[in-house]
Amino acid sequence: MTLDLIDAELASCVSCGLCLPHCPTYRVTGEEAASPRGRIAAMRQVQWEGAAPDAEFVSFMDACVQCRGCETACPSGVPFGRLMEGTRAALAAEGRFTPRWQRLAYRLLGHHRLLVAGSRALAVAQRAHLVPRRLGLPRLPLRQPPLESTGGDVWLFTGCVMDAWQREVHAAVMAVLAATGAGVALPGRGGDCCGALHVHAGLTPAARKLAERVMASMPGDAPVLVDSAGCGAQLKDYGHLVGTDAAIAFSGRVRDIHEWLAEHADRLPAPARTLDAVIVQDPCHLRHVQRTHLAVRTVLGRYAPLIELDDEGLCCGAGGAYSTLHPDMAAAVRERKLAAIARAGNGMVVSANPGCALHLAAAGVTVRHPMELVAEALS
Ligand code: SF4
Ligand code: SF4
Repeated sequence: MTLDLIDAELASCVSCGLCLPHCPTYRVTGEEAASPRGRIAAMRQVQWEGAAPDAEFVSFMDACVQCRGCETACPSGVPFGRLMEGTRAALAAEGRFTPRWQRLAYRLLGHHRLLVAGSRALAVAQRAHLVPRRLGLPRLPLRQPPLESTGGDVWLFTGCVMDAWQREVHAAVMAVLAATGAGVALPGRGGDCCGALHVHAGLTPAARKLAERVMASMPGDAPVLVDSAGCGAQLKDYGHLVGTDAAIAFSGRVRDIHEWLAEHADRLPAPARTLDAVIVQDPCHLRHVQRTHLAVRTVLGRYAPLIELDDEGLCCGAGGAYSTLHPDMAAAVRERKLAAIARAGNGMVVSANPGCALHLAAAGVTVRHPMELVAEALS
């Protein structure tokens, strides 16, 4: 079996090891096989030396959080995300990755009405104490604020789980955009799952189908704004995922909400009130993938004093579905983030990614989306 990775990309690692301290799974285990360098060495054995992608190889790949902290640390520009996604796609195509029950769960994400109805039913069951706490589900909302298009200056991508569980963040974004004078259009049918979790799981064909639907749901030239770092990173990668001129053009329109607001900072009103200081947590897909994490500071810093963490953007362990599929490792990774939050004073944390917010909140941290605070400061 070949992994179908690009040989030049696989060869670009010079085994220097500078990425190791930035890898959360290496930090927890201290094992080479759980490091970027070790994972690349294992990929080389399969692709170049004909080694069998056995269960041990699959477990090495599966344990990666796909945080891509190794990419920003790497002086040789190794595209680790591409290598890991390609490896997982090859394994999944052979039925060696992402079992059937997970594939069924991922399929649900593309059926938004079903997802919203299921979430509401779960919320009712939670109120009746029928959902065991060990499932680790957050307290789901019984009702969600309605969202309505207000114009066509920008699109707001609303997503699947975030729209079902955290629509109040979208409402805050719409309030902030209204304050800048921008009219907001909401996606049409099909614009409800970016496919990021599918790519993480190696389900590339399913992710491509979702990408086509998302692109069709937001036609034209207006910027596509995203308030989830993971979804934004995925939408920006459609050019690579789908590989058409239309997909490349679409990706060029995508902006993280903070990125767009920072570009239009002159349109942001002065605060109606000043907020207390907050601790800024950088989601990996904002810092290491989109590399736009400073925009959060540009925007939120106008309204609240900001406290920085001292862990150089180390992953919190959320990793999309990782915290559900690898709860022990995710919790061990999170311990380092919790220690950094404690060193920063244990105050309120802001995170621009729903997965990080839920993962940290499950450990008792008070987490808000930066846009919720900006909306409050403007009200
Ligand atoms: S993506 Fe994250 S978890 Fe995976 S090898 Fe790189 S640093 Fe480690
Ligand atoms: S991925 Fe980059 S930083 Fe890590 S060992 Fe290879 S060359 Fe060095």
